[in-house]
Amino acid sequence: MQARASGDSTCAAGKVARPMKQDNASHRMENELVWEERWHPLREEWVIVAAHRQNRPWSGETVVHKENNVPEYVADCYLCPGNLRVSGKRNDRYSGTFVFDNDHPCVDMAAPADLAAPPGIFRNRPASGIARVVCYSPKHNLSLAEIEPAGVEHLLQVWQSQYVDLGSRPEIAHVLIFENKGEVVGVSNPHPHCQIYATNFVFRTIEIEAAVGRRHFAETGRILFQDILSAEKLDGRRILCENESAIAFVPYFARYAYEVYVAPKRTYPSLAAVPDNELHDFARILHRVAVQFDNLWQMPFPYVMPLHQAPTDENDYRTFHFHVEFHPPLRKPELLKYLAGPEIGGGNFLSDTSPEEKAAELRALPAEHYKHSGKEK
Ligand SMILES: [Zn+2]
Ligand SMILES: [Zn+2]
Repeated sequence: MQARASGDSTCAAGKVARPMKQDNASHRMENELVWEERWHPLREEWVIVAAHRQNRPWSGETVVHKENNVPEYVADCYLCPGNLRVSGKRNDRYSGTFVFDNDHPCVDMAAPADLAAPPGIFRNRPASGIARVVCYSPKHNLSLAEIEPAGVEHLLQVWQSQYVDLGSRPEIAHVLIFENKGEVVGVSNPHPHCQIYATNFVFRTIEIEAAVGRRHFAETGRILFQDILSAEKLDGRRILCENESAIAFVPYFARYAYEVYVAPKRTYPSLAAVPDNELHDFARILHRVAVQFDNLWQMPFPYVMPLHQAPTDENDYRTFHFHVEFHPPLRKPELLKYLAGPEIGGGNFLSDTSPEEKAAELRALPAEHYKHSGKEK
């Protein structure tokens, strides 16, 4: 598949990345056998890539997608404007974004602070925090992909202020912002929203990324994520799109078939540190990725999308490079990537697909959402 150079309306600089190493790329066959281990430098683990397995026969359960005919407003939706939530609180009649404290928090400041010590080698500690919900839009049926790019930029500003507000509190060590999208990742309500867990602890993946980045800087004097960006640009085959200051790519070490990273080109420890002009660029690239995901199978595309931002404890995170990760659970429209023996049992991901092929597939998709292009099925 070749990169599409036209129809690039949402990419600010109007530029679609093309493989830079044409010689190298042209020597490779379209469906080249990828059967190897690849090092994941941010997680410090090997990913097993066995791309020849993707077409193996499957006779198990498949995912069924419901008809996509969702109204703008749903009377019993706990996220729609003006509606009553189970807590008895009523949502504002909001017109843009809307932030509220989660009625069923996973973490809460009311968690016990004085814990009985467990026996022997076992350890425990208090788990407290603040859980919030951010509605992207008053419209029940408008996903991240269908919100205007300006609306996405506004959402980024809300994420910035939430990170600053929650992260500045002494009792908060980290602010995890994430969106779970789709029933296959456990979300039954399509109303576009994300969640925030601001906690007294740092989530494991962030802790590892921060430690690895710090060590890499001490050893080389370079930012680890910048080295990843350089290597992606040198290869070029996995870059989806870029503009002046932001870039999207399927990482070399992708664990999921359609895994995508969106990052500013310059290093900022958090989204909050990204200046306004670069936020504009970032919003366009993030939006474009969301549109291309929906366009892939012409259906709302499920994913888990965390923002990886530096912790807000007292440590130095100047080597942390903020980015957004998309982890889509589907390999095909009806097929889930199951986590099984290798992942759960052995602790290493086994990828059935070639990141180069998947990037080419995504890159070839139109930049306009299928619902707006008159090609809706
Ligand atoms: Zn709703
Ligand atoms: Zn990350």
